[in-house]
Amino acid sequence: MNPGKRRATVIGAGIIGVCSASYLQREGFEVEIVDPEPPGTMCSHGNAGGICPGSCIPIAGPGMLKKVPGWLTDPEGPLHIRLSYLPRLLPWLVRFLRAGRVEEVRRISAHMRALHRMTFDYYEPLLRDAGCPDLLEKRGQLFVYESANGPDGDSFSLGLRREAGVAVEVLSQSELRQLEPSLAPFFQSAVFLPEQGQCKNPGRLVATLAEAVQRNGGTVRRTRVHGVRTEGGKAVALATDQGEVPVDRLVVAAGAWSGTLARKLGSPVPLETERGYHAMVMGSFTGLRVQTMWAERKFVAAPMEEGIRFAGTVEFAGLAAPPDMRRADVLLRLGRRMLPALGQDEPIVRWMGHRPSLPDSLPVIGPSPRFGNVWFAFGHGHTGLIGGSVTGRLVADLIAGTSCVVDPAPYRIDRF
Ligand SMILES: Cc1cc2nc3c(=O)[nH]c(=O)nc-3n(C[C@H](O)[C@H](O)[C@H](O)COP(=O)(O)OP(=O)(O)OC[C@H]3O[C@@H](n4cnc5c(N)ncnc54)[C@H](O)[C@@H]3O)c2cc1C
Repeated sequence: MNPGKRRATVIGAGIIGVCSASYLQREGFEVEIVDPEPPGTMCSHGNAGGICPGSCIPIAGPGMLKKVPGWLTDPEGPLHIRLSYLPRLLPWLVRFLRAGRVEEVRRISAHMRALHRMTFDYYEPLLRDAGCPDLLEKRGQLFVYESANGPDGDSFSLGLRREAGVAVEVLSQSELRQLEPSLAPFFQSAVFLPEQGQCKNPGRLVATLAEAVQRNGGTVRRTRVHGVRTEGGKAVALATDQGEVPVDRLVVAAGAWSGTLARKLGSPVPLETERGYHAMVMGSFTGLRVQTMWAERKFVAAPMEEGIRFAGTVEFAGLAAPPDMRRADVLLRLGRRMLPALGQDEPIVRWMGHRPSLPDSLPVIGPSPRFGNVWFAFGHGHTGLIGGSVTGRLVADLIAGTSCVVDPAPYRIDRF
């Protein structure tokens, strides 16, 4: 440790923690990341890989409530709530539904766009320095519909995107076939967003960025944080499996597990986990080039470097319940319908991850109101990969006291 250098400790080695550490290091901080797991192995590992500057559609939206009963009763539907978990979930659900009012959706949408708009700009230097620029591909994003007039049903969200300056192209069936011939012929209409991008291996992305942090003098300490010792309005040490670890400046970026730490630091937040699944057909590619969402079924087929990944589903069952891999099997079944040329005999990998979700679809990024040397960066829900680079930059701006890449006010923790 260099006694003359400013130090920052980051709890969590997911995309948010690692991007924060990377940008803090660029600001001259000596950084340490603390996590019992290897970097990029939790939620940031198995996601769909979308890196989309035009992502500005909150999860709660007008008209959603009407669709929920149908989703819940369809065994192949995109939403599942374990009944025993419902009482615990209710307060979060109420806030979530309130966030779906039209005027709220418009407000939230603008703040999502502000955070996501520059995602490529702030990933590119990190990927270049880490030696993995190949991981970011700018191929666009597709939404495909079984019905001929599918995009009409999404006119509100398409309007939001257009108002935010996102390029939106409505495709006919023949244009869709030209773009992605391996998709099943029953898809009749599509929307193409040409400015979006994808990462072909999000787990490798985080691991490679963490290696770069270490090459540049940072450390990764493999231990779990149980609490934070505070004194005189400051965090002074972490209580960990390896004993006390002193801290100078502290960033809490522990994904879906951040709620407990935030509460211990005097800032309770309505953080929930939206559990998501993937099924991946290893070594089968079908020629699909662009990450494609089956719009009615609400899951993504993502071409990854190791095969095709079908990712999606929202399951509310908390942090402790074991995964229900039948949900991954549903994705696989639907995926085979979507891409008929998919190999039948290739190995299948099934996975579940914990999205860290706040009810208003916006993350928490900013200072602790209680402790002068603590900052929070968590709750990115469905868009943590997209938001990772700019969040990292913003965390570094806030801690270094330099001008902020985006206005941090909408993401403050005391908005709840
Ligand atoms: C199916 C699915 C598809 C998705 N698709 C996309 C997509 O296409 N694009 C997109 O942008 N986002 C997507 N997401 C969301 C995205 O994956 C998450 O928002 C993102 O990974 C969250 O990153 P994180 O760093 O906050 O959390 P994580 O990656 O979960 O990292 C948190 C880290 O904190 C550590 N930790 C927890 N508790 C402690 C503790 N007490 N002490 C020390 N360390 C601790 C954990 O071990 C973990 O490594 C998807 C998610 C799912 C589930």
